[in-house]
Amino acid sequence: MYRKLLRYSNKIFNLFSIIVSITDKRLKPQIATVKIVSAIIVMHFSNLGSLNSLSQTISLRNLKKDIPSVSTIARTADSMDLEEIRGVGIEIYREARKKKMLEPCYGMWVGVVDGHEQITSPYCKCKYCKSRIVTRKDGVKDIQYYHEFTAFILAGPKISFILDLEPILPGEGEISSSYRLLSRVCKNYPKAFKIVIGDGLYLKETVFNLLEDHHKQTIAVLKEERRQLFEEANRLSLLSEPKEYRQKKTYYRVWDHSISGCWDGYGKEVRVIVSKEVTPSRVHSKDGKSFRDKLDRANWMWVTNLPCPESKDTDDLKNTVSICHSRWQIENQCFNETVNTWNAENQNVLIF
Ligand SMILES: [Zn+2]
Repeated sequence: MYRKLLRYSNKIFNLFSIIVSITDKRLKPQIATVKIVSAIIVMHFSNLGSLNSLSQTISLRNLKKDIPSVSTIARTADSMDLEEIRGVGIEIYREARKKKMLEPCYGMWVGVVDGHEQITSPYCKCKYCKSRIVTRKDGVKDIQYYHEFTAFILAGPKISFILDLEPILPGEGEISSSYRLLSRVCKNYPKAFKIVIGDGLYLKETVFNLLEDHHKQTIAVLKEERRQLFEEANRLSLLSEPKEYRQKKTYYRVWDHSISGCWDGYGKEVRVIVSKEVTPSRVHSKDGKSFRDKLDRANWMWVTNLPCPESKDTDDLKNTVSICHSRWQIENQCFNETVNTWNAENQNVLIF
């Protein structure tokens, strides 16, 4: 099965010619870097979550001749040049875009930035390990080591594409890491996206300003902690009528407020989009014999510096609300799957 996948990747993306550019810092390499990179690609394509399961497959299937040992893979991956690996990502993106494999989200090219936690382990293995104290059920306290990183994903209706990752280093938070990630993604993929969406954490003037410097707009979730902006939006919602529409099974009541003077530090006018959503559904009743109707309600608030639509057309607003939601749609479609199956034990492997 994965032979087909490899052949396809090579035909469409010229994969094996572009990964030749990756080098590492071994002094007297016995095995070419490209062989190691290929082994890592095979590991991911065949959904083996870690070097450990790769090593089991190697001995089970008698592949010692074909695949380098996992200790060689780990050692080499540790010293691979990250910029060269990112260069491969850029090439693949270019090909995918040229061949029209990527599509915009509701007419807009949208990027999603988010923090993710990866492996946890009782042992500290590298300089990227963060640590926390975990209290077990019996009250014993253990130190747990883990890795965190921020990821930038190009959101699409069918395919979402991971453009880059950045570790969250010990002692720093998600925003510091995302700041490096966003600067680099804006530089490496200047035309790939127009809008960046993040959760409540990204409602920061540093993030909005950084992206504005690169001519990108930001959408961030508004949470109650941001009291002034939150309360002002609620006050305005009481004073004005929402736009009402239905999309698929969900009924929307949406307000689109322009607010200034409620966000110290940013100082410019922003739009706050409030969406109250009700989705009726039918579920089995408790006795299991009949059905009952229920209503799922969701209230969303987003802050954005997207320019106000020129028309008062409801379709424009519908589209904006769909774009705001796209972050949560791709979460299940793309990243969780990858993260759950990725247990590779060092940073460089991850970039692939
Ligand atoms: Zn580590």
